[in-house]
Amino acid sequence: MSELLFGTAGVPDSAKSHSSVDGIKRVSELGLGCMELEFVRQAKMSEATARLVAETAASTGIKLSAHAPYYINLNAREPDKVQASQNRLLQTARIASWCGATSVAFHAAFYFDDPPEKVYSTVKKYLGEVLDQLQKENIQVWIRPEVMGKHSEFGTIEEILSLSTELERVAPCVDFAHWHARTGQYNSYQEFASVLQQIEERLGRTALDDMHIHFSGIHYGAKGEIKHLSLQESDLQYTELLKALRDYEVKGLVICESPPEYMEEDALLLQSTYHTLLKAD
Ligand SMILES: [Zn+2]
Repeated sequence: MSELLFGTAGVPDSAKSHSSVDGIKRVSELGLGCMELEFVRQAKMSEATARLVAETAASTGIKLSAHAPYYINLNAREPDKVQASQNRLLQTARIASWCGATSVAFHAAFYFDDPPEKVYSTVKKYLGEVLDQLQKENIQVWIRPEVMGKHSEFGTIEEILSLSTELERVAPCVDFAHWHARTGQYNSYQEFASVLQQIEERLGRTALDDMHIHFSGIHYGAKGEIKHLSLQESDLQYTELLKALRDYEVKGLVICESPPEYMEEDALLLQSTYHTLLKAD
């Protein structure tokens, strides 16, 4: 990627319809740079529609990513649930690739009461099988396990970076709001910069040149994330994060996941604040 782009998680509220094509057109009219296709309930889109999505994205210059269904748990107890999870991820990756999207974000697993190291090996094994299948089908998208906000969910920064180190075609989806909610920390320039530093040390400069970031305001408690908020309603120091992203010359996509009624506004706020910071450089 040549720059850092900002966009919405799904079709903006003000789009003409709820279709992905109209969503991309609206994102372009708003002057944003990217959109995440939300397959959070199910990974379903015909190849013909997906090709139209790809054409619309190409003609407007909007970059796309995709989010896999929430109903994925690679640490499920029942083998059929693991397989269904793998299939949901695979299907999202197939659709993403028809759409010309380059990344698929997903929530990997729940710990239940298992030791985190055991969950890590389980996730690695089943994710590895998904990657093998994608390779057979020659599907080239990045698979991005997400940093998660609840203590019950697999997905610390460390876990996500380790998977990215150990598996080909796996890269992080760094959700800074989730990480703040999970830890109650990571809300200052120094802390945001330390995460970027850690990514560079573990994965190399190329990871910072093609980052996938989720961001929003967030409400949290003792167990971590409770719900997403608008930036203004939350305590997140988004300008500090944007400064760190500027200073580390991070490139890629920043997907704003504020609640739908605030999403466009917040994506634009992040973008304009970032561009002001760039000029101040
Ligand atoms: Zn997510």
